[in-house]
Order: sequence, then structure tokens, then C-alpha cells
Amino acid sequence: MSDDAKNWQELEAKLRKALGLAPPSAAEADAEMENAEGVHMSREEIERLVERAMRGEKPEPSLAADYSWLKWVPLARSDEFVFNRNRTGASQGDSSQGIDIQRRVEKAEAAAEELVENLGIKAPVDPFAIAENESPVLHMQLHDFGSRFDGQLEFDQLHREFLMLVNTKYDATWPRGGHHPRTRFSAAHELGHYFLDHHRARLLRGGEPQPSHVDFTSALVLEREADHFASALLMPRAQFLEKVKRLPVGLPAIRGAAEHFGASLTSAAIRYAGVNAAPVVVIKWASDGFGWKWLSNAAYEAGLRKTIEDTKEVPGDSATGKVLAGRVPTGQSIEQGTTAAAWFPFVSHGSSRNDILIEQAISLGEHGLLTVLSPQGGTFSYSPIR
Ligand SMILES: [Zn+2]
Repeated sequence: MSDDAKNWQELEAKLRKALGLAPPSAAEADAEMENAEGVHMSREEIERLVERAMRGEKPEPSLAADYSWLKWVPLARSDEFVFNRNRTGASQGDSSQGIDIQRRVEKAEAAAEELVENLGIKAPVDPFAIAENESPVLHMQLHDFGSRFDGQLEFDQLHREFLMLVNTKYDATWPRGGHHPRTRFSAAHELGHYFLDHHRARLLRGGEPQPSHVDFTSALVLEREADHFASALLMPRAQFLEKVKRLPVGLPAIRGAAEHFGASLTSAAIRYAGVNAAPVVVIKWASDGFGWKWLSNAAYEAGLRKTIEDTKEVPGDSATGKVLAGRVPTGQSIEQGTTAAAWFPFVSHGSSRNDILIEQAISLGEHGLLTVLSPQGGTFSYSPIR
């Protein structure tokens, strides 16, 4: 092993320790070794990087430029960085960071699934009961915190206990009593910060608590992990698939799941695509335009990765167009036929991939709307030439 490789290995071990991350698996360690060849780093530089990491500071600019593979993701009040395993360029670096995040959110989901299994619980999962079960180590406080945050987990060094704050502001608008799905999701998200080892370790080390804003789109890796933990906790994969397989594909299944699992339509839609319950593309539009999209594996593999993202390109007479125009009351949906070419710019009208699709759109009122696209024939056409 070269000195550079040894130095890199040492750096990673120290940084992982400083951040409370688990040691790398054997496969990860091998991948690190491969990347390490050709990295030139003195022991002095390593010490400087680690010291700064311990203080939650970014690498000094001269090092950051040389070691651009060390990607930093800014957090609210401290910094967390993500190991970027590809040093060969910005665009490739970004995609390898994407893979890294994907692996991390999958691990977070697996941890939630394991918890559900260990507790032997069936939906609807009660995140508040799970929190109470952790007393006296974990102390939960429910309160209307306004727009400050959806939730927050803190560690009280003096009393050696975790304090879990959950914002109940949405409960006031929930007609059925009990907790609004968003409050349930916030509680489950904070449980993620508590049950995920590296989140808990970070707080135990004196890391600043982060105010959580639960929306699945955070650039912060820890937040994304907690969102995925919450999703898997409230909608465990096996139970979710069992529930939706009896329901018609798309919105009816998503609505049924939201009801059954006490989840919002949005989080149920994300889970529906995420567990590949059906071949779908789910698009969330905010009141001011495109929000985000989620693809099931089948849609991803069919190459349907780019959708139209400009409301001006949405045909006015389509289901989505009608909801966008405010012609549909909150909570109501429309279903219409459409084509892949209408939604995916890379599918041309004459192409064999121009499948007939079912387009469903539902109004979420002030939260925008959801579009769900699925192939009428049950599968997306796949073409190896694209
Ligand atoms: Zn959070």
C-alpha cells in the first residue's frame, strides 16, 4: 500500500470518528483504497483537515481545491460533509454523491423497517407511542411552534436526556381529532434523528440540533435520511405493498394507503413510487410551478427520467392542466388519457415508446397538486436505443 493510500485510510478513519459515522464496510474500504491511489496528501494536511472537521469547519480553500472530492453540504448551524468517492470531475462527482446519498437513505429505511419488525407493530404506526416507550432517555414535547420548525431533537447534556419537540400546528386543522398526518410524519422524522446511530452520536458529541423541515427535498443528507426513516416507519414496505395491491393503480391506491397508514397524500405517493408498487411517475407541483418528481424503477429503467417541468408546457385540457387552472376543488381528482410524448420530451410522437398513459391529477389546495402517470397497458415500453 502506498503512503498516500495509508494517509487516505487514516484520514477517513479519523473523519468518520469525528462525525460519529460507523466504520466502512469491507466493500466500501476496498473502494476507498482504489480511490486513494494517486491522492497526494501529507500527514500535516490530514491533521489540519481532521481538526477543522472536529470544529465543524470547512477545509481551507487551498486544500478544498486540491481535494475537491471532499464535498461539503452546508447544514443550518454546523457542517456535515459527504464523502465523494469520485475525484474525476464536478459532474461525475455529483452523480457519485447521488449514489452515496441513495445508499444512505436506503440504510435509514432499513433501520426503520427493523424497528417496526422488532416492535411487532401494524399500521397505523403510532410514532408518539414509540417515543413514549423510550422514556426516560427520550422526552417528547408536543406544542404549536408556528413556522419555526416541524420538529427538533436536542440532547440535554446536563440531564443526559433527549428532548424531542414536535410541532402540532397542523392538528388544529385536522377535523377528525388526533394528529394530522403531517404531525405524525414530523414525529416519525424526529424518531429518525434519535434511532439512527450517527444522528444520535452527533447530538451526544454536542452537535447542534437542527430544526427539521420535513419535505423530502432537503439538500441536507441528515434531513433526507430522517425523511426516509419516517416514511418507512409509518409505511413499512411489506404492509404497504400488501395494502396497495388490492387497489386500482395510481391515485386510488395512493389515497387508500394514505388513509390506511395515516399519511399525507404526498408522502404516500412518494412511498408508492419508492417501493415500486406500480410503474409510475409522480410529479408534485407547488402553487408556483414544478416541485419535484419521483420515479418507480420501471419508469427509471424505461428512460423516462426527464419530464416537462414548466407549467406552460402542460396542456390546458389535460387533467393536470385543469387542476393547475384551479378548476378542481381541493381533495378532488381527475383522470384522463394522455401519451408519453406529451410528458417526456425525449419520447417522440412516432416512437414505439410513445405509450398511452393514464394521467391522474389531484388538487392539494394551497400545497399545489400531484400528477400520477402510469402506462395504460400495465408496463412502460422499453427501448435499448435511446
Ligand atoms: Zn430533521
